[in-house]
Amino acid sequence: MRTAVFSTKPYDRRFLDRANADLGHELVYFEPRLSEETAPLAEGYPAVCAFVNDALHRPVLETLSRGGTKVVALRCAGFNHVDLRAAEALGIRVVRVPAYSPHAVAEHTLALILALNRRLHRAYNRVREGNFNLDGLLGFDLRGKTAGVVGTGRIGEAVIRILSGIGCTVLAHDPFPNEACEALGARYVSIDELFAESDIITLHCPLTPDTWHLIDERAISVMKPGVMLVNTSRGEIVDTKAVIEGLKSETIGHLALDVYEEEGDLFFRDLSDRVLSDDVFARLLTFPNVIITGHQAFFTREAMENIARTTLGNLSELDATGRCQNTVSADVVTAPTA
Ligand code: NAD
Repeated sequence: MRTAVFSTKPYDRRFLDRANADLGHELVYFEPRLSEETAPLAEGYPAVCAFVNDALHRPVLETLSRGGTKVVALRCAGFNHVDLRAAEALGIRVVRVPAYSPHAVAEHTLALILALNRRLHRAYNRVREGNFNLDGLLGFDLRGKTAGVVGTGRIGEAVIRILSGIGCTVLAHDPFPNEACEALGARYVSIDELFAESDIITLHCPLTPDTWHLIDERAISVMKPGVMLVNTSRGEIVDTKAVIEGLKSETIGHLALDVYEEEGDLFFRDLSDRVLSDDVFARLLTFPNVIITGHQAFFTREAMENIARTTLGNLSELDATGRCQNTVSADVVTAPTA
């Protein structure tokens, strides 16, 4: 299928070209993000391929529809950035990659927890400077600590398997408990009990109207002093300003983020020679007990291969049958969030 592929980096092209070798889709790559300004580039393309920070709200979808686009193929699992009702009304089918490697995200979550706990970000720099002082690098044993996992789908389950293996007591919260997680020893509790009892809280739920700013001032007020908070899910699940106050009051003792509320203006680009204009993000960078990665939790070779294969497989299935098992229906969400 002739497809306009937005937000593409050289690594995206490499994996997509390889997966396309036997499929023969006509892929035309655009580096910019999909937005109201760039949507006209897709004129004449029956399919558009988009990533996590591409805008797929109504005005963009209307432009795509006017240009003849009938399919939006997401190269990601999350679809919080798509106005599914508008897409349905415009006759645009939205397909996605429901699972590509939950292990990639779960293992990055573990990397963040370990690096933050043992202060690897500080130790790395110190040793390179010839400073072998241990002051400020004190960590804690993970074994025996209580970890709270919010959202126990594919990624949450993989995280629970890892944390159980390390010897953590695992509390879980999810409106739809997962038996496999219970079998691993996780105990389902209310969200407030999870907040109050956990030494480490890690977020693996989708962004929905219910989870927007789930971590806010009230939630932080019930957490254990010194708690470690990890968000590899979606930025808007955390109220960043409230978290900054939590860091200042030392209620939050460690913070790891792979996603950020306003990441669309920052992540996936080299801005190293620019002045940072996001004051909230700049404030986060001042804390010694904060680690931020730029939405890289998914970024493993295996995940990229699976994303490319499933994305192009979705297009092939639509070409061949007019249907796709990975279609996202507007009925699965109550309202779009972006
Ligand atoms: P999944 O659909 O398998 O699991 C999500 C779970 O969250 C489900 O069990 C669901 O019942 C639960 N949930 C829904 N609302 C909830 C709520 N209010 N409280 C608690 N749990 C709730 O999804 P997944 O594959 O495990 O992915 C989880 C999220 O991870 C995605 O939605 C996406 O936002 C994020 N993600 C991030 C990256 C990254 O690179 N950082 C990559 C992939 C996915």
